[in-house]
Amino acid sequence: MNRNLIISDIEDICRQSGSKKTAVIENGEIKGAGESEADFHGICGELEITNTGKNMLLSGRVKAYAKAVCSRCLEEFSLEVSAEITEKFFRRDKTSSGGSLKKEKRQEEKSGVKEDEFSYSGFKLDMTEAIRQNLVVNMPFAAVCSESCKGLCSECGGSLNNGQCTCRE
Ligand SMILES: [Zn+2]
Ligand SMILES: [Zn+2]
Repeated sequence: MNRNLIISDIEDICRQSGSKKTAVIENGEIKGAGESEADFHGICGELEITNTGKNMLLSGRVKAYAKAVCSRCLEEFSLEVSAEITEKFFRRDKTSSGGSLKKEKRQEEKSGVKEDEFSYSGFKLDMTEAIRQNLVVNMPFAAVCSESCKGLCSECGGSLNNGQCTCRE
């Protein structure tokens, strides 16, 4: 479980508008939403949760690593991704959902939480999905293992990085 991606005690800041809390994430892990989505590991960062009076504002910067395939040499490597997060969380009553704090369809009109909004209930705020989505949008379209990656030989398909290409000897 992602203990450090869930802030379990926001009771104190819930009581007073304008108050803040800092959440430190160290070496967190998030599984991708589906087969095709990246898993993130080594997530760290410091986020601030502010009770704005209307919602809880999560803000700060996180860094993480994802397994990626280099678009030039096709080798798997560990890609560093960072994201600037600014997300609002709206209160959802405990009774309105099965305890899941992820983005989900509005189940109760009166909760007033829209489909595309993050929510929290009780005194627990789950940052997992907000962090995951922000990391996903910061993944480069064509990742490269290194700016100096030479890619593959167009003749033999061997990697030009570590001398696997032999056709030019
Ligand atoms: Zn490469
Ligand atoms: Zn070659």
